[in-house]
Amino acid sequence: MTMGTGLSPLLKTHFGYDTFRPLQREIMEAALARRDVLAILPTGAGKSLCYQLPALAREGVTLVVSPLIALMKDQVDQLAATGVAATFLNSTLDPQEARERLDAIRSGGFKLVYLAPERLMSGAFLSEIRRWNVTALAVDEAHCISEWGHDFRPEYRRLRELRQLLPDVPAIALTATATPRVRDDILTQLALRDPAVFLASFNRPNLNYRVEPKQDAVTRVIGFIRDRGRDSGIVYAQSRKRTEELAASLRANGIPAVCYHAGLEAPERARNQEAFLRDEVRVVCATVAFGMGINKPDVRFVIHADLPKNLEGYYQETGRAGRDGLPADCLLLFTRGDVAKQLRFLDEITDAEARENARSQLEHMADFAESDNCRRTGLLGYFGESWPAENCGGCDNCLAPRESWDATVETQKLLSCVLRVKQAGGPPVGIRHLADILAGSRAEKILARNHDKLSTYGIGKEHSAAKWAEIARQLVRKGWFAVDGGDYPVVSVTAEGSTMLRERRAVSLSRLMALAESATRRAGDIECDADLFEALRTHRKQVADATGVPPYVIFSDVALRHMAREYPADDASFLRIPGVGERKLADYGPGFLREISAWLATHDRHNFAPLPDLAPRLPKPAVNATAHATLELWRAGKSIDEIAAERGFVASTIESHLALAIEAGEDIDPRRFYTGEEEAEMRAALDGYDDPSLKPVFEHLGGRLSYGKLKLFRAIETRLALSSG
Ligand code: ADP
Ligand code: ZN
Repeated sequence: MTMGTGLSPLLKTHFGYDTFRPLQREIMEAALARRDVLAILPTGAGKSLCYQLPALAREGVTLVVSPLIALMKDQVDQLAATGVAATFLNSTLDPQEARERLDAIRSGGFKLVYLAPERLMSGAFLSEIRRWNVTALAVDEAHCISEWGHDFRPEYRRLRELRQLLPDVPAIALTATATPRVRDDILTQLALRDPAVFLASFNRPNLNYRVEPKQDAVTRVIGFIRDRGRDSGIVYAQSRKRTEELAASLRANGIPAVCYHAGLEAPERARNQEAFLRDEVRVVCATVAFGMGINKPDVRFVIHADLPKNLEGYYQETGRAGRDGLPADCLLLFTRGDVAKQLRFLDEITDAEARENARSQLEHMADFAESDNCRRTGLLGYFGESWPAENCGGCDNCLAPRESWDATVETQKLLSCVLRVKQAGGPPVGIRHLADILAGSRAEKILARNHDKLSTYGIGKEHSAAKWAEIARQLVRKGWFAVDGGDYPVVSVTAEGSTMLRERRAVSLSRLMALAESATRRAGDIECDADLFEALRTHRKQVADATGVPPYVIFSDVALRHMAREYPADDASFLRIPGVGERKLADYGPGFLREISAWLATHDRHNFAPLPDLAPRLPKPAVNATAHATLELWRAGKSIDEIAAERGFVASTIESHLALAIEAGEDIDPRRFYTGEEEAEMRAALDGYDDPSLKPVFEHLGGRLSYGKLKLFRAIETRLALSSG
């Protein structure tokens, strides 16, 4: 067998795709060269194809081990729709059916056989497998083999025996869980020999992340979902009761929704999941019990109505959105109250180390939510991956940078309050206590310790205690305060903080801003005739119901959107639609072609701009309202400092506003920012330098030219380069 050749034609004939996704081809070639493979790719990267396509390219049968019966059935349905001979064996089959399938497998009637791992427990079954012509073994959701993973399945440990039984059969393990411990566990447990390991970036370019302060969560959730037409999504909540309440509120507001949690009886759980997969309800309100096994590719949004316990969970749960590569939105509703609530639950963990661990994970989660840095950078950074761009273009913080405000006085008050408490003696205090002193609270704990006698008592009445606590937490993130001590965390001033205080340095902090919905990027979007898309969606649902499968098994939304912009009129043009292979052309082509031609008889055809090439490109940010206000003052002839004073921001915020305006195409004269001499200096320093971080350049110039100037210069140069190129 020649390696790798012939993969592309198979890709089109069966699956209807013209190109491979990143790493797919490399993985398949390694597998076909009979190497053991470990592929760690994020959700939606197209892992299934990595073992399905090679199965068609080689003789014999590929055994696929998959943890959930529902998942298995879904995969086999999808393969059947593309004309691939695949089947599964699990406990849901009656003896007669099972016997027939076994006969067909023995006589080589299937290219892929899906197995539930519990099958491997039986010795008789293992010797049965020996009679098949097994030429490859694929282990899906391979992290289930690891106790360190989140879905440990003891049955997966039996895979070792299967490997011993088939010593010459190469194995491919696939997972979306990347922690090194789990990765190593997979390698050893599966006894992979000199494996080819593929690790992709965990960035999900088509997911938009945003965090909003949580107020009246139910109303917000309803509004968010209402704005999204017929799109499907998941609302995650912390407790079973909450998921039920949320689902009831959604239904009461005309949004078809069900709930899903471990407390439901199995049949009801299955029914609710099925209703979601089949587009009979738009929304599932679920606890974390809902997840693995949800292959639905067109989940368009994931809302966290309560704070997830850790970033890993947040990543996994948001990751269920947008598998099809079309844009999807992830909304987290955040309040410190949720942190406090969860901390109380953590108190019940008796093992001190486990409690501390859970607490620190929760703190990471809360930091992420409160941070004013790029969400993508924060999320990927947590998994040890660095995200190179300065502006990801797909999160609230990048799209609407927070406004900075001068917090020098507040910082001084906080820092000196900590020092006063310390001088007064007695145990140190936590953030809330500190905030109460500044705000002049008459709380028992303040009076009991005579903290109302401190010179800093009540000197911060201009803010609420909650506001003071928020400021303090921002200072902790800046490293000027430290919070330590297990069950009763207390605040201290770091060395850096004392320096700040002594030198009376200026401090700027950022403020949360409301971000207009429309500002969110739509990476991966495929512009199309929206009404025709809806008509095709309706047709797809009818076909799916008649066949007894979920709609996405017939065609994905990507295929439908292509149909609704290219208006295929014959077999040849229908076959050019991504996701249309020969089998789907034969089975569904006539029906869809008929729908499209009927549509064109009564509607005009629209024209669409060509789709951008797939290489991710950073979008142009839109000028938001606040940048616009700055721009108007600038146009009125005011200087940066004047605008800063007038608007109550620091100069660097004003500079960011102007850089944003320049990037968005506003005409601004550079002569008002820097002299010709400075311009030449910056040009020399930045020539050939395309790293997003300006820090090295700033340092190279000895700090003579501010970040603001560098940023503005670069924005102007980029604009010029774009308009001349
Ligand atoms: P994963 O298991 O990695 O989460 P899937 O195997 O479910 O991802 O694939 C996600 C989606 O991407 C599916 O709808 C699949 O049909 C689609 N897909 C896979 N490979 C390609 C490709 N080469 N071109 C276009 N779409 C693809
Ligand atoms: Zn970002």
